[in-house]
Amino acid sequence: MIYETTITILPEEEKNKTLLESKVLKQLNIKNKKDVNAFVLKKKSIDARKGKIKFHLRYAVYVGENPEQEKFIPKWKNIENKKTVVVVGSGPAGLFAGLQLLESGIKPIIVERGSRTSKRKVDIAKISTTGIVDANSNYCFGEGGAGTFSDGKLFTRSNKRGDISKILSIFNYHGADEKILSDAHPHIGSDKLPKIINNMIDTIINFGGEVYFDKICTDLILEKDEQNNFFAKGIVCVDSKEKNNEQKIFADAVILATGHSATDIYKMLYDVSIKNNLDVSKILEEKTFAVGVRVEHPRTVIDKIQYHGKERTENLGAAEYRLTTQVDERGVYSFCMCPGGLVVPSSSSKEEIVVNGMSPSSRNSKWSNAAIVVEVRPEDAKQILKENKIDNKDNLLSSLNFRTYLEKLTYQNGEGIKAPAQKLVDFLEGRQTKSFPETSYTPGLISSRLDLWFPDFIKTRLQKAFKKFNENMKGFICEDAILIASETRTSTPVRILRDKETLQSPVIQNLFPAGEGSGYSGGIVSSAMDGENIAKKIGES
Ligand SMILES: Cc1cc2nc3c(=O)[nH]c(=O)nc-3n(C[C@H](O)[C@H](O)[C@H](O)COP(=O)(O)OP(=O)(O)OC[C@H]3O[C@@H](n4cnc5c(N)ncnc54)[C@H](O)[C@@H]3O)c2cc1C
Repeated sequence: MIYETTITILPEEEKNKTLLESKVLKQLNIKNKKDVNAFVLKKKSIDARKGKIKFHLRYAVYVGENPEQEKFIPKWKNIENKKTVVVVGSGPAGLFAGLQLLESGIKPIIVERGSRTSKRKVDIAKISTTGIVDANSNYCFGEGGAGTFSDGKLFTRSNKRGDISKILSIFNYHGADEKILSDAHPHIGSDKLPKIINNMIDTIINFGGEVYFDKICTDLILEKDEQNNFFAKGIVCVDSKEKNNEQKIFADAVILATGHSATDIYKMLYDVSIKNNLDVSKILEEKTFAVGVRVEHPRTVIDKIQYHGKERTENLGAAEYRLTTQVDERGVYSFCMCPGGLVVPSSSSKEEIVVNGMSPSSRNSKWSNAAIVVEVRPEDAKQILKENKIDNKDNLLSSLNFRTYLEKLTYQNGEGIKAPAQKLVDFLEGRQTKSFPETSYTPGLISSRLDLWFPDFIKTRLQKAFKKFNENMKGFICEDAILIASETRTSTPVRILRDKETLQSPVIQNLFPAGEGSGYSGGIVSSAMDGENIAKKIGES
């Protein structure tokens, strides 16, 4: 029999194995410990709600059974050459699609515009030291996609979309700590992720898949039948650096897992539809997304608020928070909170500033940060473009054009890659910041009146929301909190449409939009599950 039970303990009791096991046995009324083959921790969550911090631990207790039978066993097969699928992008959606294709013996050919993690690390360091952004090798583009140099939070609410535990097990199989299998809010950390991603790529290659780095997909190879139906037959790509050496890769299907920073891919699809007289409104659709700022506090400030005046102890991780409210009919919320983390320059082309957050596995930096973003609807984007007389011929891409506008506006208010910033108290009072507390943003900050140049509809909502957040988290508004601009890549502003049943584009057969860039997922785990689901669909056909 396998029994499950949850015990509640104090953080300092966590390492006392004998105590934990005796609590579990008592709760299950099992008299003799010898009857138990194994105690397996299934879930650990922290409860800091009522003044006292507690851990809830859910255990599976094996009596007369063996936990081995629950272990993840990979089902990857050597390819049988029956089908080939080009996967554009090696982010979580592309990688997990690749692995899933191997389960059906189908050959994935992954084409990635960015570089391997070893070179990418150098390019990322250069952003801070020289201010130069390599348009194909940066925080967003390269081996493992946007998730590689991230916090590696593996938490998702999309549990209906697929098997989360399989995704976590695959990360664990490739080197992630087994704690991710039981933590309620699992995370890997930016120091560990690159190696894990390298291992996944090795698995794909070892089973017969092909992976090409520094190659950028620039077009689709399409074929038309007599009934005017269009089929994707492969892709056209060029070397990312020289932009030459055009190559065609033919395949039975194309998975487009290019993430939401690939502005050129949305434009390519727009052009493909115009060129082939296809109904573009059946290929792309504008969607609501969110933009705002990153707020950074000293970690101790957030720990003390969340842990009721206490600083974190050895047994407690850096404190997390999640904030959400409605202001004037738009959602305002925290996103991608990085406890003990760093704010990073995640621009993916020149003359734009985009910030994001990441944490090392130990989450032990001196700061905690999060995006605080305001919902932007297509009509808001159109309005702002109109007010600012921005060319917006292709109405379907207004939200994307607005994102670009804000990223460039941020650049104009910064200095090189130094980000425009304002202390939170000054943002609320409408003052120039005279000096900043220490920040984790290594390229540096430029004092800027965000309250003057941020689009009014975002600024006023942010100001109201911060005051509301401070009611729930007293001390959130404080002298040491800094706002760093701009956070624009929380989700895609454009959806690449697909049929609910077949998961293919409704007008281009065998074209499978996947992951965050398609608008059907957000975050590492849900994008990974989306890639898996698409590959399963291809395997079934
Ligand atoms: C700094 C940072 C921290 C983050 N932290 C977290 C976190 O802690 N937890 C979380 O869940 N999410 C986090 N995210 C978001 C997460 O990384 C994304 O949701 C996820 O990576 C999306 O997966 P994807 O495969 O759909 O796309 P991506 O990861 O964006 O991958 C797309 C890939 O396609 C490639 N590509 C694009 N265009 C082309 C082309 N034309 N030809 C060839 N290749 C192309 C890109 O180079 C990229 O590698 C973070 C993101 C960033 C930037």
